[in-house]
Amino acid sequence: MPAPRFDQLHRQPGPWFVALGGAGMFGANFYLYGSGGEWIAVDCGFALNPTPSGRNSVSVPSLAALERHDIKLSALLITHGHEDHIGAIPHLWRALDCPIYASPFAAQLIRTKLDPGLTWPRLQEIRPLEPIGIGAFQAEWIPVTHSIPESHAIVLEVAGKRLYHSGDWKLDNHPVVGELTAQARLQQLGRAGVDVIIGDSTNASVPGASRSEAAVQNGLQDAIRPCRQRVIVTCFASNLARLHSLADIAFDCGRYAALLGRSLTHMHSIGRAQGYLPGRPGFIGPWELGHLPREQQLWVCTGSQGEPGAALGRLAAGSHPQLSLEAGDTVIFSSRLIPGNEVALERIKQGLKEQGVELIDDDMQPDVHASGHPPQDDLRQLYGWLKARHLLPVHGERYHQQAHMALGRELGLGGLVPANGDLIDLSGHPAKVAELPHGLVDIDQR
Ligand SMILES: [Zn+2]
Ligand SMILES: [Zn+2]
Repeated sequence: MPAPRFDQLHRQPGPWFVALGGAGMFGANFYLYGSGGEWIAVDCGFALNPTPSGRNSVSVPSLAALERHDIKLSALLITHGHEDHIGAIPHLWRALDCPIYASPFAAQLIRTKLDPGLTWPRLQEIRPLEPIGIGAFQAEWIPVTHSIPESHAIVLEVAGKRLYHSGDWKLDNHPVVGELTAQARLQQLGRAGVDVIIGDSTNASVPGASRSEAAVQNGLQDAIRPCRQRVIVTCFASNLARLHSLADIAFDCGRYAALLGRSLTHMHSIGRAQGYLPGRPGFIGPWELGHLPREQQLWVCTGSQGEPGAALGRLAAGSHPQLSLEAGDTVIFSSRLIPGNEVALERIKQGLKEQGVELIDDDMQPDVHASGHPPQDDLRQLYGWLKARHLLPVHGERYHQQAHMALGRELGLGGLVPANGDLIDLSGHPAKVAELPHGLVDIDQR
């Protein structure tokens, strides 16, 4: 569509929605909402592009649409601190040049990505359930459970419409760390009327309900207790609940635990500074753990996706400076394999097997991991509370979006499956009215 059409359109109240990343793909979540010429964004993440070597390249959303139409964002609102939601900020914040609103934990993760000498007067910490006004928009952060603390949905009220941007979420009554989903507030919103859900499609094709983080703690304990030698568990560094569980399990199984890998120690220290992971018994230093008998060692390490330079990759190659594995040790993959990393991870598993190490993954024992995203029963439950009219499925490949839309239709929701760049008019039944430039920029080439 020619540029002038958009330039006239977006001066109208709308509201308008456009994904500049995150629709039809995993990663690079970057969603824009507009009304009367004012625009805000929700999340600003990067995308990882797996390669067979396991060395991922990184790309961030293109800002061509903003530049071409001279759109100036009033604010960037952050749902939670995962890299696919905040990872592009260090690369784009100067160009976006707007205040960033995030929870204290997400704000701290953002700060640590930036040059420590930088003064950042415009990173503002939100409080959940306390709406704030940003020009034509009112925004409220609603606590939801996910796989990192302080995850939120964001409710936007604008141009007489109430929009529910789900962020990443699952339903979990026992999340181990962090707040419960604010069910009463969601039901209250449902009674007030929600016009459109812009929602997480990751597990929309998966039947059933979420596995709780508490069930994973039991599953890991059952897997670790019978082990007679060293145990190594690999998981995503940002899953503080998993770290909390592993520290507890070590204590209960007569072991000591240590963290191996920079992203784990980084995330652990931020978690502690923010008041998570309190009390007993914590982690000891790797140098201390290495001196204890093998049967008392529980190592938590990075590298669940087959990254050759991460701790597990180096253990598999026999090149880790602090630890060498031996026959009879056990490695547990408390993680999901991200598609694209199969070859790299298989190489690492092979290296471990050649050392006589036992492997346990979530195919063999499903309860050593839980996804942070809603399968169908979770979607049905939460959408039952919200009673929305329309759905725009995002955060997933086209297949996941379509599965999400099919489920939505079953629940009586109208809507459409957006692609990146689609300008969608939310004033009535959602409709695509124009297409904006979009794409990803490989940051290694900038
Ligand atoms: Zn995400
Ligand atoms: Zn997430």
